[in-house]
Amino acid sequence: MALLEVKNLSTVFKTDHGDVQAVRDVSFSVNEGEVLGIVGESGSGKSQTMYSIMGLLASNGVIESGEILFDGEDISPKNFDSKKKYENKMLTIRGNKMAMIFQDPMTFLNPVLRIETQLIEPLMNHTNMSRKEARERALELMRLVGIPSPEKRIKQYPFEFSGGMRQRIVIAIALTCNPKLIIADEPTTALDVTIQAQVLELIDTLRRETNAAVIMITHDLGVVAKLCDKVMIMYGGKLVEQGTDQDIFYHPQHPYTKGLLNCIANPEDDSDKPLEPIAGSPPDLLNPPKGCPFVDRCDDAMKVCKWYMPEETVFSANHKCKCWLNHPMAPKKGD
Ligand code: SF4
Repeated sequence: MALLEVKNLSTVFKTDHGDVQAVRDVSFSVNEGEVLGIVGESGSGKSQTMYSIMGLLASNGVIESGEILFDGEDISPKNFDSKKKYENKMLTIRGNKMAMIFQDPMTFLNPVLRIETQLIEPLMNHTNMSRKEARERALELMRLVGIPSPEKRIKQYPFEFSGGMRQRIVIAIALTCNPKLIIADEPTTALDVTIQAQVLELIDTLRRETNAAVIMITHDLGVVAKLCDKVMIMYGGKLVEQGTDQDIFYHPQHPYTKGLLNCIANPEDDSDKPLEPIAGSPPDLLNPPKGCPFVDRCDDAMKVCKWYMPEETVFSANHKCKCWLNHPMAPKKGD
C-alpha cells in the first residue's frame, strides 16, 4: 500500500482578481523508502501541491477537491467537521510523521536559540524522553547528519554554522520525530555545489537507513538524476508527465519534459550543441488555458491542444503522460 496517495487534488488561492488555480487535478502516490522528485518551473504548482498535503497553505489557499490518503488515514480537509479539527490533526501529523526541509535553513532556525534548544524541545514534545535522554538523542542525530564535535557545537547558535552545516541541523531537526515522509523543498538551492552534493548524499543515506519516503521538490533535473526513483513533471498547475527516473531521462514523452532535458548539460554528450532554454513564459493561472497548459510554448501544438485538455496516456504502471501527441485518435502536427 502507498504511504501517500493523492487523488485529483485541486487547490486555489482566493485573490481580489479571482481564483489562482495553483494545483489542478493532480494524482500521484509514493511508497515507503521511495524518493519522488517533483520538477517544474516557479509557479508550476510543485510547492503548493506539497503545502496542500502538509496543511501549510497560505491563509487564502483552499483545497477545492481531491483526496489525500496518508499512512492509512484520509487527511483531506473535507474529511473533518471543522477547520480547527483539521489543523489540530495536521499539527500532530507534522510533528510525528511528516517533516519538511526548507530551502533556506535560516528561515527555519531560530537565530536567538542555541542548537541544543532547537533539537531538544521537539524531541521532548514528540516523545516521552526526559531532558537528559533528549540531549543524548540530539547528539546522536548531530552525529548521524555528519556534524563534527557535536558536544561542543550543540551549544552554539545558528550563525556560528556554515550554510551546509545549518542545512544538516535542519535535517537533524526533521528527524527528531522519526518521520515516515520527508518533504524537501529545494533543499540545496542556497548551497554551493560541493555542499549540495554532500546534503543530497546525506538525504539519500538517511532514506536508506530509516526507510522514510522522501519527496524532493526541485527545478533541477540534476538533483533528480542523483536521488530520485520516481519523477513528476508539473507545468501550469498540472501534472503533465510522471515515471521512473529511467522513463523520464531516457524515454520522455511530453514536449515540456523534453524541453527541460534540453536545458541541462549531458556529461556523456561531447558535441558542441548549445543548451536550449524553453522560449516563452508559463500560463497565467488566474485564467489558465482551456486546453493544454503548454500550448503557447509548444513547437508541436495542434488545434485540439488549445481547446481540449489532453487525456492521460498510460505507457506502464508508472509512466503516464498528458499530451495529445500520444493519443491514437489525435490529429497530427499542423492539423
Ligand atoms: Fe504540445 Fe499539444 Fe502536447 Fe500540449 S498537448 S504538449 S500543446 S502537443
